[in-house]
Amino acid sequence: MRRSADELNKMRKAGKVVAEMHEATRAAIRPGVTTRQLNEIAAEVLTKRGARSNFLNYHGFPAVICTSPNDMIVHGIPGDYTLREGDIISVDCGAIIEGYHGDAAYTAGVGVISDEATRLIEVTERSLWAGIDQLKKGNRLNEVGRAVQNVAEAAGYSVVREYVGHAIGTAMHESPQVPNYWPGTPGPTLKEGMVFAIEPMVNVGSYETYVLDDGWGVMTQDGSLSAHFEHTIAITDNGPEVFTAS
Ligand code: MG
Ligand code: MG
Repeated sequence: MRRSADELNKMRKAGKVVAEMHEATRAAIRPGVTTRQLNEIAAEVLTKRGARSNFLNYHGFPAVICTSPNDMIVHGIPGDYTLREGDIISVDCGAIIEGYHGDAAYTAGVGVISDEATRLIEVTERSLWAGIDQLKKGNRLNEVGRAVQNVAEAAGYSVVREYVGHAIGTAMHESPQVPNYWPGTPGPTLKEGMVFAIEPMVNVGSYETYVLDDGWGVMTQDGSLSAHFEHTIAITDNGPEVFTAS
């Protein structure tokens, strides 16, 4: 769906709040901090900016961010988990301003991390930007997934299949979905005013997943590390505009 200039302005504001949630949580990441504390820090940003949470109560989700350490891919519920030196932690944040949504995620290291973890984070973020580069009017949507997959697989990693990016606007998850791999068909033609959340999830090992008994946390089947980066991006006449970048 194409958004008006007024709608894009509201999404720009929502994106700024999400970027601020990233900055505030990132600054707090260190050994000894619990994921519940990161959630509280993000909730304070929402309150301060007069934004609503799109995560809280989403199908019953109990927090304003997702926190997914190490071999957890996405959707982790913040709680008693205490960050340890050498962990990696994926933090997914969202906000609503005047009915319009922003959604973005990052993965960070806790203290000193392994060379493999450092490389995984670097490759996953680079795969996101390769996908964003494809968000140009006239291009086909599934070129995003092809670009993401090329970067991740060239590094020897795999791209998660079951969880994908999405259009975003007056709901967090709108159609169409945006796979992080080439699905075999080119998908819709991109037009200015369309807005997407692009979100590669990249595993060191295989792309297979399972869900924890809590019904939320998505894990790598083989226990390998996973990273997740996401931005909310509009297609403009001048190329992609990233609403959630700091
Ligand atoms: Mg997200
Ligand atoms: Mg998303």
